[in-house]
Amino acid sequence: MFFAGIDIGGTTVKSTIMNEYGRIVYQNTIGSVKGDPCLLADHIAGSLSGFRSPIAAAGLSCAGQVNRETRLVNAGNLKWRDVPFMDIMEQALRCPVDADNDVAGALYAESQVGVCVGERYVAYISLGTGIGGAFLIDGRPYRGWDNTGAEVGHMITHAGGLPCSCGGRGCFEQYACSSALTKRAGVPVREVFRQVRAGVPEMIDILDDYVHELCIGLAGIVNVFRPRMVVLGGGIGSAGEVLLSRVRYEMTHNCPSIPEGPMPVFVSASLGNLAGSVGGCFLAAEIMGVQIQVEDIGALLRARN
Ligand SMILES: [Zn+2]
Repeated sequence: MFFAGIDIGGTTVKSTIMNEYGRIVYQNTIGSVKGDPCLLADHIAGSLSGFRSPIAAAGLSCAGQVNRETRLVNAGNLKWRDVPFMDIMEQALRCPVDADNDVAGALYAESQVGVCVGERYVAYISLGTGIGGAFLIDGRPYRGWDNTGAEVGHMITHAGGLPCSCGGRGCFEQYACSSALTKRAGVPVREVFRQVRAGVPEMIDILDDYVHELCIGLAGIVNVFRPRMVVLGGGIGSAGEVLLSRVRYEMTHNCPSIPEGPMPVFVSASLGNLAGSVGGCFLAAEIMGVQIQVEDIGALLRARN
């Protein structure tokens, strides 16, 4: 049986097809299409037509707000408002389709085959062009009543501060998303971390200031949810120890509001750009009542790039 996982973003769409033993049998990435969901669905179906066996079900990890009750999707970066994209994809692929928010999909993948297997209290914070969040509470995803919760990027960390795309002011993501860092640094994220590893003092100061902003938001999240593990994903989150060591220090020394007792474990996401589509494969298997039993996690991880 084959399951398709499709990670739909504003720039690219990444698809992975997996069998019930977690073996990746097909992968591709195509450009996304803004504003015309039917055309995008046709492009995706066309891109999967090279895979000759029938697909049992498909799971979508979709940027934006995915309401799994009404099956409607709102996604600013795709110019979608109340789009019934799961139904559109069912027609295009001729198989059952379910969808979740892309960050929730990434957490699902990490909890099945990645850094938080077996963890029951996890906050996943995606640090990219915006900031997204997803939570596991007592082993189950927490989504809010209409599945559009966990919007940690719009938690206000600076009352009356910078204007945000949501219409508010002072939102966390204005201070801790990747462009907040690159604007301060004047170079891309990768270059920031390269220079910090090389010991460039000005860049170390810039990263330390950024981590201070990041930890204002993380402290709020840790206080409210008390996760045992915090997974940092997205372009910045995947930087590894150069970031994590600073986050641990800041959280331990400069966040007195956090209750006594052990800090959560801070880790980088492990699945990289594969997370959304792999999460989609697990979601697709769920539709069919199948539990994917991954036989070779190493082989799966080697499919990242
Ligand atoms: Zn906002």
